Amino acid sequence: YSKIRVGIVGYGNLGKGVELALNNNPDFELIGIFTRRNIDDIDSNSNIISFNKVLDYKDKIDVMFLCGGSAKDLPEQCPKLAEHFNTIDSYDNHKNIPNYFNMIDNIAKKSNKVSLISVGWDPGLFSLNRLLAQTIFPNGQCYTFWGKGVSQGHSDAIRRIKGVKNAVQYTIPSEKTIEEIKAGKNPSLKKEDMHKRVCYVVPYDFEDKDRIEKEIKSMPNYFQGFDTTVHFITEEDLIKNHSKMPHGGRVIGTGTTNKKHKHVMEFSLSLEDNPEFTASVVVAFARAIYRLALDGKKGAFTVFDIPLGYLSPKTGEELRKELL
Ligand code: NDP
Repeated sequence: YSKIRVGIVGYGNLGKGVELALNNNPDFELIGIFTRRNIDDIDSNSNIISFNKVLDYKDKIDVMFLCGGSAKDLPEQCPKLAEHFNTIDSYDNHKNIPNYFNMIDNIAKKSNKVSLISVGWDPGLFSLNRLLAQTIFPNGQCYTFWGKGVSQGHSDAIRRIKGVKNAVQYTIPSEKTIEEIKAGKNPSLKKEDMHKRVCYVVPYDFEDKDRIEKEIKSMPNYFQGFDTTVHFITEEDLIKNHSKMPHGGRVIGTGTTNKKHKHVMEFSLSLEDNPEFTASVVVAFARAIYRLALDGKKGAFTVFDIPLGYLSPKTGEELRKELL
């Protein structure tokens, strides 16, 4: 292979992670990072380019990493870019993935491009493991636990409460429930049984503590019914001790085979930095999307459609010798 020429659209946490991950993967060449912000405001040694100029790079980039947010950026940017580039993204709005897939599939088929959507760890590596568990144990159960990790969604929800200056929420899996599952008890679980929530809140005024705590604990969908602990801390403490972005989780599949033998399969991740890890996954899959394009494929794809050997820079022969 000659080098795979790539671009990054959006320079947030994930975009920065992809820039870093490319350093570990010498078969890629980063052509540029495209941002909607003023390019002089971006602190990076890479080639920073205004997003307005992206189409000038139509024939100079093999795969474009779309690193925008799932809520607003990707639904707007991916349809436009899939008309001109092979793309890969980490779209994580699980419920809307089928719609998003169909929209991008139509566009990429017309433009003779390939778009790999929803790559990362969840959706992504966890999805693959859910598929394995469900297929291998047709009558079994499959459980997904997240954490310990920071949930941006829950942290944002707390920040919207009146009197809250800043907040970080950790999602923590219930070890008791996990032990029950592994013991083969196949519990049927409410989502409230599976995770605990621990919040670190900086109030504008510590006098408001009780009201804020009540509002958090009674917030439907987010906290109500969950085992929730709220700690009030200073902004200094929050910045010092809660600025990192750890995450992780487990997919646990359980099943019994004919003679009533119980089996447990588990995949777990423990990540010190969620976007940096996600970026490493995305870069490996970008190699696959490049190869799909070389194979003459077109349309949208998910992790389920990718031959795993396509992720590796090694040849099939090397992989058979070293890893089978
Ligand atoms: P960010 O909020 O950090 O970045 C999103 C976009 O916001 C960037 O592309 C950037 O676009 C813009 N932006 C970033 N920083 C600033 C700033 N200081 N001022 C103004 N604009 C800014 O999101 P993340 O990178 O953390 O995550 C991106 C998506 O990745 C998430 O929405 C999530 O859906 C997904 N994800 C998926 C995972 C998975 O396992 N599938 C795991 C983790 C994340 P621009 O440069 O154009 O301004």
